[in-house]
Amino acid sequence: MSKPALPPVSSTAAPDVAIVGAGVMGCAIALRLAQAGLAVTVIERGIPGAEASSAAAGILGPQWESDAYGPLMELGLRSRALYPAFVDELRALSGIDIGFVRSGLIEVALTEADEDALTTRCRWQAARGLNTELLSPPALRALEPALGPAARLGLRMVDEGHVNARSLARALSQAAAIAGARFLQGRYVRRVVTRAGRVSGVELDGEILSAGTVVLAAGSWSSLVEGGGVPAPMVRPARGQMVSIEMRPPLFRHVIAAHGRGYLVPRLDGAVLAGSTLEMVGFRKEVTVGGLADILTLVRTLVPDLAAAPVTETWSNFRPYTEDRLPVMGVTAVPGMLVATGHYRYGILLTPITAQAISEIVVKGASSIDLSPFAAARFGS
Ligand SMILES: Cc1cc2nc3c(=O)[nH]c(=O)nc-3n(C[C@H](O)[C@H](O)[C@H](O)COP(=O)(O)OP(=O)(O)OC[C@H]3O[C@@H](n4cnc5c(N)ncnc54)[C@H](O)[C@@H]3O)c2cc1C
Repeated sequence: MSKPALPPVSSTAAPDVAIVGAGVMGCAIALRLAQAGLAVTVIERGIPGAEASSAAAGILGPQWESDAYGPLMELGLRSRALYPAFVDELRALSGIDIGFVRSGLIEVALTEADEDALTTRCRWQAARGLNTELLSPPALRALEPALGPAARLGLRMVDEGHVNARSLARALSQAAAIAGARFLQGRYVRRVVTRAGRVSGVELDGEILSAGTVVLAAGSWSSLVEGGGVPAPMVRPARGQMVSIEMRPPLFRHVIAAHGRGYLVPRLDGAVLAGSTLEMVGFRKEVTVGGLADILTLVRTLVPDLAAAPVTETWSNFRPYTEDRLPVMGVTAVPGMLVATGHYRYGILLTPITAQAISEIVVKGASSIDLSPFAAARFGS
């Protein structure tokens, strides 16, 4: 339902596409649409990239994230494959290097049950032709001598890697702006407006911005935008706490993950990102005693020599969580209304493929990627 009495946004001509949210999703989609020659406006209530996108550990781990083969893993593998060219493109467009490393990821077992789970994962992933191998304790320590004695078995996935998520968020917002996307910062989208059954724009705080297409990319806040196609409680915040540790000299090269627990990411700049918690506590952006204790205990277990390393930063933010842990992407029941949200703990991984899929729908009317498993309609009305 529209409220035509509100005035139009005075400083901004009506764009072809209005994008709600300037995290990695909104900015990557804006970049692709601006490159296709469309007039794009990205509306961000705060600072581009400053929420989940800058909080992420930056792991590109579709194999690590998957307990079975399915649409999410397929999407993740395709997105991981896009990364090398994506990194080069962003460097050329923005001048920002996003710290991409194909480091490999070693998932370690700390218990007998973990060993069984890793052995099963190795078997089915190898049968699918994925690059994966089990590492006995001596093989594990030959590769990563700093690992503690609690690591009983390793599963190495050599094609996994990581990026610096903050740099990615910066590079994307800069590249999108350079490509011609306009950013309306400090403006809050209250609702999406429709006319004659299709999208006609968005209502900002007291004004209407007209647009024939609206893309909702508001991360954990998506369900708060009225008429955005993802009514509450479809997307909810799942808090994750993180710790940054200074590691000098580098003690390990792979991303190290403890099965079912947390992980350590050895960034190129010498920081080790240790994470994370998974807490359904609403939008409480806090770092807690319990959260830090759990993370730091795991750090000492995985790499005991880090016990003397300085903690340089702590933070928390919100993964956009859905009940089935799949993203919500594509068209909605309202013509002109698209969604790109619910990317939970794999949004950095899924950024290039999401931008491709959504921009193909806007520009060509259909995506080359099957988005049916990710349709908002799966949750009913
Ligand atoms: C601790 C942690 C660790 C993670 N680690 C990884 C990882 O290792 N690998 C990985 O792939 N993913 C990881 N993720 C997940 C990843 O960060 C997210 O899936 C991804 O950043 C989501 O991007 P987004 O653009 O949808 O959301 P966000 O980055 O949250 O952006 C949404 C933006 O929308 C804006 N907004 C919201 N509502 C409105 C409104 N009404 N009007 C205007 N603006 C609005 C917000 O201000 C925000 O800037 C992690 C997340 C967390 C929290």
